[in-house]
Amino acid sequence: MPRVAFLGLGAIGAPMARHLARKFDLAVWNRTASRAVAFASTHHGATHARTPAQAATMRDIVITCLPTSHEVEALLDGADGLIAGLQKGAILVDCTSGDPATSRRIAARLAEAGVSFIDAPVSGGVSGAEKGELTVMVGGKAADLEKARPVLESFGKKIVHCGDVGAGDAIKAVNNALLAVHIWATAEGLAALAKSGVDPKIALDVINSSSGRSNTSINLFPERVTSRAFPRTFKLALLDKDVGIAAEVARAQKVASPLLQLTAELFRLAHGELGEEADHVEAVKIVEKWAGTEIS
Ligand code: NDP
Repeated sequence: MPRVAFLGLGAIGAPMARHLARKFDLAVWNRTASRAVAFASTHHGATHARTPAQAATMRDIVITCLPTSHEVEALLDGADGLIAGLQKGAILVDCTSGDPATSRRIAARLAEAGVSFIDAPVSGGVSGAEKGELTVMVGGKAADLEKARPVLESFGKKIVHCGDVGAGDAIKAVNNALLAVHIWATAEGLAALAKSGVDPKIALDVINSSSGRSNTSINLFPERVTSRAFPRTFKLALLDKDVGIAAEVARAQKVASPLLQLTAELFRLAHGELGEEADHVEAVKIVEKWAGTEIS
């Protein structure tokens, strides 16, 4: 039975860690220590680690789930850092929606210490994490994935080996760029319809049984926009980061990508205007403001 550590008990990390605590001997660490202390006190089999090094000590699989790859990289060094605790032969599984270049740099650093790295970003949202039904997209060596697979299966339903280190990050960024395109385009279309006198709920009913439908039109708009609920489950700041990564991947490969670049700009603007705590779907509010109408 592998011994596991989990670092980053945020909106998606906490429900992932909850599944792990049911099956494995689990150490948890969180920057705000009170969250990890509370987690360990309410989950039998979980222990609270004071530092990243302590979390990683004697662990076979160490999982990180932080906002960006930069926070993961910053956790590596120093007396309290991950590298000080990671044992030879361990695997660092990074479930952050990261960026491929930084992941490759992290993998190279860890390799010097005899530690493997796989990038393993997830999709399915907080509700998918709670149900243990996430999709996990993995970059790295197939043999490392096979060692980590029993651990990933506790929160993942579909686990796909995508290629070398960074491949999971790249797919995740493109997936989320598509999500961003759908949110913005659906908002523009529905704002135009609302202003021309069509009820957005009727428009969604029609679109959702027609070829323009998407997860955004089927789930996000009815549950969050027309209802005006706008729950905060996935930060706009994080989607902004993801679209930026996708735009950068396209630029690095010299792929003409005007739509991706524009989407990155729009989400940067929305993030700047709505702030750090806004949910990703609240980007719709910018479209509504520009249109002078509400999609409800
Ligand atoms: P949250 O903002 O809810 O949580 C972020 C976590 O990272 C917290 O545990 C936070 O600690 C920690 N953290 C933040 N800054 C630092 C730092 N400088 N050093 C160490 N720890 C830090 O984010 P999510 O849980 O929503 O997202 C985590 C990752 O998962 C992101 O890459 C995101 O893109 C991805 N993701 C999120 C989904 C979602 O639906 N929420 C869906 C799919 C992927 P503290 O408690 O101290 O703030």
